[in-house]
Amino acid sequence: MEEKIISKQNLVKLCADIIGGGHILIAPGKTEYVVTQDASQIVLDTQSKPTKASYKTFVFPKAEPVLYYKRGKNDVQILDAGPEQKKTVIIGAKPCDTNSFNILSKVFNWDYKDDFYNYRVKNFIVIGMMCEFSDRYCFCTSVGSSPVSEKGSDIFLIPLDADNFAVRIVTDKGKEFIDAYSKYLTDGNPSKSKEVSEKVKHPEVAFDSKQVHDWLAKNFEHPKWDGVGDMCLSCAQCAFVCPVCHCFDIVDEDYSYTEGRRMKNWDGCQFGHFTLHASGHNPRDIQGKRYRQRVNHKFKYYVDKFGEILCTGCGRCSRGCAVSIDIKEIVANCKD
Ligand code: SF4
Ligand code: SF4
Repeated sequence: MEEKIISKQNLVKLCADIIGGGHILIAPGKTEYVVTQDASQIVLDTQSKPTKASYKTFVFPKAEPVLYYKRGKNDVQILDAGPEQKKTVIIGAKPCDTNSFNILSKVFNWDYKDDFYNYRVKNFIVIGMMCEFSDRYCFCTSVGSSPVSEKGSDIFLIPLDADNFAVRIVTDKGKEFIDAYSKYLTDGNPSKSKEVSEKVKHPEVAFDSKQVHDWLAKNFEHPKWDGVGDMCLSCAQCAFVCPVCHCFDIVDEDYSYTEGRRMKNWDGCQFGHFTLHASGHNPRDIQGKRYRQRVNHKFKYYVDKFGEILCTGCGRCSRGCAVSIDIKEIVANCKD
């Protein structure tokens, strides 16, 4: 792995060049990842709290048209709605976000290849950054990651001192990208960046994910799900902020009698109508069954199907839950 150094001043210039080159640049804002037009306003702070929502919306938008249609007298005309997006660069992403595309790509390339998602990911550069934030909700170390994990990053930043970052080039895509800005980089000092990253405090491991998986396999009817169900408001905030929740619904929206569009909209398994059949039957008719699905999908079904845990341990779902349902605590108690 190649490593370089960039000064903070040059990083601002590099970001200005990215924007000037017509690319979309995303950086952590006060509460959300935001598209930025002013490189001098970007704050890269390893101690900042994770944003309230992840950046999955930039590759998997909350709502997007997948086709347009026009009805004629005897036929229907279909018009493509291809994804239109310039090259997008995210800078300062936390390790609990950077691995999200690796996890999501499995489901978006399973029996059906989602061209909208794939196109955007292909044109996305992920510049991750070491994380020094930790609160009671963080558990990246319980799901195979860490605050210094480079998984999913094309380039990874480590602050060496008040004025400089180490720039680890993780993927070929990252190398091709950063080579265009080589005038801003100087030779790296891997032993110094190693020393810094080794000092980062890791969140305590809260559970063994293999044991959780096996417990879930044996405890589908466990009464604990009713207890969580009694508290849960069914709001699906937890799914919408999650970097790897990916349920969506397809809806045809008519503009008029003759024209309309087919939309792909986020959905969430915590909503009561998520599994409601046209007959009126609902196989997940109470909230306990819906929360059980959330945990099983993340820690059992996705693991069985794709070999990945459908959770990065970011803690967002718990931090934002109005009734303090804490997924880390629930999963850590999936044991006899
Ligand atoms: S955010 Fe909390 S209350 Fe809302 S659906 Fe998720 S667990 Fe339930
Ligand atoms: S389930 Fe919760 S902790 Fe896990 S990735 Fe999603 S938001 Fe983060």
